[in-house]
Amino acid sequence: MRIARIDVFQVDLPYSGGVYLLSGGREYRSFDATMVRITTDTGIEGWGESTPFGSTYIASHALGVRAGIAEIAPQLLGMDPRHVDRINEAMDTALLGHLHAKTAIDVACWDVFGKATGMPVCDLLGGRTNVRMPIISSIYMGEPSEMRRRVAEHRAQGYLCHSVKIGGDPSEDAARIAESLADKRPGEFFLVDANGGMTVESALRMLRLLPPGLDFVLEAPCATWREIVSLRRRTNVPIIFDELATDDDSIAKLIADDAAEGFGLKISKNGGLTRGRRQRDMALAAGLTMSVQETTGSDIAFAAIVHMGQTVPEKYLRSVLECRDMVAVQTADGDFPVVDGRVTAPTTPGLGITPRMDVLGEPVASYF
Ligand SMILES: [Mg+2]
Repeated sequence: MRIARIDVFQVDLPYSGGVYLLSGGREYRSFDATMVRITTDTGIEGWGESTPFGSTYIASHALGVRAGIAEIAPQLLGMDPRHVDRINEAMDTALLGHLHAKTAIDVACWDVFGKATGMPVCDLLGGRTNVRMPIISSIYMGEPSEMRRRVAEHRAQGYLCHSVKIGGDPSEDAARIAESLADKRPGEFFLVDANGGMTVESALRMLRLLPPGLDFVLEAPCATWREIVSLRRRTNVPIIFDELATDDDSIAKLIADDAAEGFGLKISKNGGLTRGRRQRDMALAAGLTMSVQETTGSDIAFAAIVHMGQTVPEKYLRSVLECRDMVAVQTADGDFPVVDGRVTAPTTPGLGITPRMDVLGEPVASYF
């Protein structure tokens, strides 16, 4: 089986909640998504998505996804898409870094692999667990009482996990955390995410201001590795990495430095399912917890999250991101119902999605 053609599609995904606010004054209203369709010489089609969270979240951006694909795609024609490690080696030979550009191609290869073998991607990634995976909300930074209201809204929709964004003033952030956790129920999981917006000093001051007994993990408190490790030595709050855990090397360093209790395994940030699989296994070997997420994205990205998450044993899986709820456009159909705040991977071959071609439109680039 050979890759005969690679088509690239672009879709704007407006944020469903209006304006998304992050630490450092960052605002997001819409996300620029890139979809890849790989067509093989046997007629099988595979799909993948890469949607950066704007251009100020990590070192990735939407134009870079498509520019990266332009560098890579011609080098992959004629290769067997089922040989995912060899595909990734060829992508690394064509372009150094730029994992977010490689993700859409990598995921499309796994979709082909599944359809070619009649197996769902989660089974190819190691086999499905019987876990009904809890989905996690994304609660952008705002007034404390208003954040409490939005947590309650998501709770009413069935969400069992909440990612609460902070990252400004220590006392305001302490109030955001206290309010957001005020109605916490048994079994709920809270991740407090500063997106690298705090100094060690402001984080320590914030933690001192919190009432005792709050149950949460602190994600990405600071922007640099040194700062987080420094903070970690002086708090008993579990630390989770996100923006700094982006590739195999950073996961190896995280483990070697005993720098965190877990990390956010985001498919496009971490380079797709092939690299994600490796990082999952490194994390399991080290006893780290994972939330399987995306920087953002639509139905195709969500399918990749769900299949990867479905292979992580329950003890180590904290949540999967319901990114479909964050965007106002549906790009594909698939059997991914959320029941009581939990989701499982479909049993259909590949990712189990059917793209909506009327939404995707015509390709913006084609390689053949
Ligand atoms: Mg995060």
